[in-house]
Amino acid sequence: MKFLAERMLGRLAKWLRILGYDTVLEGRPDMEANLEELEKEDEPRVILTRRRKKPGPSQAYLLHSDDPMEQLKEVVVTFRLTVDEAGIFSRCSVCNRALVAVSRAEVVGQVPDYVLAGHGTFHRCPRCGRVYWPGSHLDRMKKWLAGVLEDDAENSLTSSK
Ligand SMILES: [Zn+2]
Repeated sequence: MKFLAERMLGRLAKWLRILGYDTVLEGRPDMEANLEELEKEDEPRVILTRRRKKPGPSQAYLLHSDDPMEQLKEVVVTFRLTVDEAGIFSRCSVCNRALVAVSRAEVVGQVPDYVLAGHGTFHRCPRCGRVYWPGSHLDRMKKWLAGVLEDDAENSLTSSK
């Protein structure tokens, strides 16, 4: 499932990307494809909006909350998004690109030493160069999601150890 978020929903878009969901922010100047091109994609994007709009060719979902985490909860529950280790941090939260795996040697000098020492797995965004690694935010995120998904949690979340 892919999303197209209204411009004002930047924080929601960021969280969806962290979960691994391809989410384009409407009207971003650095966006690769324009809206017409997006409509040609095989899988229509679900439009996330806070405003009522005329029905378009894609499915639109009207969010009820103004709070980004509540919005994320709405989207996760409504679309029954699955969340797993492979999805979390598979996508750059800033530019929506799929991350590529890089070795520890490749990130020397780009991450703090204690991070380098404590992790064997790193991912880098091919566009902006940000380096990602599994950290405490991953555990926090999984706990939060487990609460949101409740009954779904056992099926959707894989254990970390
Ligand atoms: Zn990036």
